[in-house]
Amino acid sequence: MKTLSDIDLNGKKALIRVDFNVPLDDDFNVTDDTRIEAAKPTIDKILKDGGSVILMSHLGRPKGKEDKYSLKHIVKKTSEILGVEVKFVDDSIGDKVTQAAADLKPGEVLLLENLRFYKEEEAGDEGFAEKLSELGDVYVNDAFGTAHRAHASTTIIANYFPEDKVFGTLLAKEIESLDKVLKNSEKPVTAVLGGSKVSSKITVIENILDKVDHLIIGGGMTFTFVKAQGGKIGDSICEDDKQELALEILKLAKEKNVQIHLPVDVIAADGFKNDANTKVVDVNEIPDGWQGLDAGPKSLENFKKVILGSKTILWNGPLGVFEMENFAKGTIALGNFIAEATDNGAFSLVGGGDSVAAVKQFGLEPKMSYVSTGGGAMLEMLEGKTLPGIAAIQGK
Ligand code: AMP
Repeated sequence: MKTLSDIDLNGKKALIRVDFNVPLDDDFNVTDDTRIEAAKPTIDKILKDGGSVILMSHLGRPKGKEDKYSLKHIVKKTSEILGVEVKFVDDSIGDKVTQAAADLKPGEVLLLENLRFYKEEEAGDEGFAEKLSELGDVYVNDAFGTAHRAHASTTIIANYFPEDKVFGTLLAKEIESLDKVLKNSEKPVTAVLGGSKVSSKITVIENILDKVDHLIIGGGMTFTFVKAQGGKIGDSICEDDKQELALEILKLAKEKNVQIHLPVDVIAADGFKNDANTKVVDVNEIPDGWQGLDAGPKSLENFKKVILGSKTILWNGPLGVFEMENFAKGTIALGNFIAEATDNGAFSLVGGGDSVAAVKQFGLEPKMSYVSTGGGAMLEMLEGKTLPGIAAIQGK
C-alpha cells in the first residue's frame, strides 16, 4: 500500500481528495467537524514535509451551483483546525484556479469550490478529472466516504498520476483496520451483524462466513431467521421472502464451521414506540400483538461470552431499535462487551452506518480499536468488493 511516507513531498503541490461533506446549520456553521479533524493528519504530514496542499471535496447534493452548498462556509473552521489560514477559490477548474494553485507556496493550503457544482464530477468525466489533475504534482486520496464511487476526483483522476498517487493517512487506516479483521485476523474472529433487514446485509453475511468463527445476528434481522426455523415472532419485523435465504445461511455456516448466535430472548413491545408496554419473552414465542425490539437478558449473557472470548471483533448494525431509549439497552450492553474485550487486547472495528451512530451516541467510540468513517464504503468492503477509489491508487 503506497502512502505518504513513500513519496518525496518537499516542494510538491499535493492534490488531496478529502471528505469535507460536513453538516451545516441554518447560519452555515459546521455542526460536526469530525471529517475535517479526520483529514488533519494527512494535511499536517504534507505541510511538515515541505509541501503545499490543494483540497478537493464535495458538500451535499447540489443541483448545479448553489450558494448554500459552497465550501466557502467551512473555510473558517478548516483554518482553525489546521492552524493555517486556508485560501479559498470559488471554482474547482479554470484560469482562476490554475493561478491560485500556481501561486501556492510550501506550507500553504488552498480549498477548491464544491466539486459537485460540476455534473462532470459524479459522471466520472475524464476531461474534468484531467483539468483537476493539472493543479498538483501528487494525488492523495483520503476520502473513504466516497471511495466506493468512481467519480472524477475519487478515481478517474488517479490515471493522470501513474507514479505519484498515494493513500492518505485516514484512508490507509481504514484499509488496514479492515485487513486486520478480514485478512490478517487473530482468532477467534467474531462478527456482530444487526440492523433491520437481512436483504441489506446478505452479501456481507455471505462474504464474512469465510472469515469468521462466530457470527452474532441481532436486530430486526433476527426474526426472519426465527420464523424460518418455525418460531412464533408475533408482529416483529420480518422479510418473508428471505426465509429460505436465512435457512441457506444457517446451513452454509454449519458447513463452514461458523457458529451462529441468535438472540434466545427479546424485549417485546405492544407497539413500535418508546413508551409501549414491554415484557421479556422467548424469541420463539412472541405473542401476536407484540414485537421484538431489543435483545433480552439471556441473549446478552450469551453474546457477552462470545465477545469476551474473541480476539477480533467486527460490529455492524444495532441489536435493537436504539433510537428509542427503552430499546437501546442491548446495543449499549453489546458496545460495553466489545469495549471490555478491546481493553483485554482484542481488535475491534465498528463500521457501516447505524452502529457508528450508536457508538458515538453512547460515548463508546474511544473504547473501540477503530470506528470507520465511511458507511456505504465500509459495507461494500465487507461485501468483498474492490472499491474503485482504492483500486485506482493501487493501479488496478
Ligand atoms: P440498518 O440500517 O440495516 O443497519 O438498520 C438499522 C436500523 O435497524 C435502526 O434504525 C434500528 O432501529 C433498526 N432495528 C434494529 N432492531 C430492530 C427491531 N428489532 N425491529 C425493528 N427495527 C430494528
